[in-house]
Formats: sequence, structure tokens, C-alpha cells
Amino acid sequence: MKKNTYSFLDGEDYFDDSHWFEEDGLLWDNEEDEDEEPLGEIDLPDFLGNNNIQDLINMYLIRSVSGKEDNLRDYVAHALILNNIPFLEDEEGNIYRLSDNRPILSAHLDQVDTRKRLTTVSISGGSIIGDANLGADDKNGVWIVLNLVIADKGRTLNFIFSTGEEIGGIGARFLASKRAKTLKTCPYCLVFDRKGNGDIIGVENYYCSQDLQADCANIGLEYGYTPTNGVWSDADTFRDHVACVNLSCGYQSAHTDQEHTSIAGIKNALAYGQALINGLQANKKYKIAGASAINDKWRWTK
Ligand SMILES: [Zn+2]
Repeated sequence: MKKNTYSFLDGEDYFDDSHWFEEDGLLWDNEEDEDEEPLGEIDLPDFLGNNNIQDLINMYLIRSVSGKEDNLRDYVAHALILNNIPFLEDEEGNIYRLSDNRPILSAHLDQVDTRKRLTTVSISGGSIIGDANLGADDKNGVWIVLNLVIADKGRTLNFIFSTGEEIGGIGARFLASKRAKTLKTCPYCLVFDRKGNGDIIGVENYYCSQDLQADCANIGLEYGYTPTNGVWSDADTFRDHVACVNLSCGYQSAHTDQEHTSIAGIKNALAYGQALINGLQANKKYKIAGASAINDKWRWTK
């Protein structure tokens, strides 16, 4: 175990007095909360890498409810630093790298607040289970994107670890508004945030046109992935600028204390992600869904 002591550019804003107060040298949330506990420094495990499931379990044990993603963000930042992958952080706490013309991988750092705190995680019958919500939505996506980015050694991929997805895609919308010009140059965006083990959410949610979905489905044959439709995600934001798909990453029963992850499912999702990076056309700009289709019922907010 190693104590991480990163300070981020937006630290002062985040720890604004209106939201937090200090007592006994620790920062506390002002909101009434029965099981409130101090924020600030905690012992964070090191990222092991090499597609290690222990990293995923370690992430489950780092609580990161929307607006309080700091500890998971520290963990991800530390993993990137250890692997010499450059990244930026913005005012909303998104961690990202965005260069022109590169494919984008995306997952969200925050988890829903199900009140009960996770204290134990175990493996049973090929699944990872806990005594409360794991936050596998979307730590599974974070684990997949981290492993893919590290395998790439920072050479060819963009990535986005967003904040506040569960409370309206706050981080993604902020980032998209600031970096729209770069997003528009990127060939495609893979969002890893879908439940289950074989879903490609694309055309039916107006995340992309047929070209990207068809290529994803073709490569997905070997991995059991097929197109369908799904609920809202950060892809609803990024799709205005870049063709997106939202892909299953192995969790079930999200937002409940019964949430669980199929180990075979998440490993398959990681392998599929790697196959997509290898197989999609990185020098082709896939088409976004048409403007008329985008202005539709799926939009969270204009
Ligand atoms: Zn999610």
C-alpha cells in the first residue's frame, strides 16, 4: 500500500468552503449524511497492470460517488503516471488526453450513491460480488480503458475518464464544450459503459451511422457482440462531434447492492476492445448520426 499525495489544479475549487469543512485535520462533507466519512487522503493501492482483476477489485473498494470522484481519480492518475502516459485534468475533474485524429476510449469515474458502503468483495462462481454496490458501473469501463491505454503505451489513443456521468453527464458535457474542435477530428469513440456482455449501442441510439456500427458488429462476431439499443451514457454527448458506440463491460444489476461482474465477461470486453482498436480504421473519420436524428428523445438536455 502506498499513500498517494497528488495535488490537482482544481483542488482549491473542489474543496470550496461551501461544500466542505475541516475538523480533526480531515475534510468532511457539509451535507447531512448518516454514514459520512472524511474525504481527502486515503491509502490507495498501486495499479498492477497486465489486465489484472485485482486492480478491478481494488477500484471497487474506492468509493467514487458523483461529485466525490477524487480518490478514484487519484488512483487512475497514479496508474497513468506509473506508465508514463501523459494526461490533463480539467475544472470538472475529467482526466483525459485529446489529440487530433486519434481514436477515443471513454469511461466514467463516478458511481451512483446507493448509501450502503461496500466493505467486502469476493469471487463466487466466476462473478465478482460485494456486500453493497460495487460501482462496476463504470469502474469496469475504467479498468478496460486503463488497460488498453497502457497497452498502447500512450502512442496512438486518446482517452477520457469523465466525472458526473450519473448526474447528467456533467464532465463529458464540459469537456465536449471545451474540446469540440479536437473531438471532431477523431475517427471514432468507444465508450465502455454498457451492462451485460454483448451489446453494441450505436445506430439505434443515434450514437453513430451504419459505418461504425457495421465494423464493430463484424469484429464483434468473434466476441459475441451485436447491435441493440440502450439507456443514456456519455456517448449522448460525444456523438455530436464524433461517431460513438457504447459497449458492454461485464456488469449486471447496476445501481443496486446486488451489482456483480462476470470475470469472463469483462475479460472478453477487454479483448473485444483491443480487437476494435486493431481492426477499426483509425485513419477514417466514421460518420456521426444525422443532425435530425440527434435532435431527438434520447437527449438528456439540450
Ligand atoms: Zn454508467
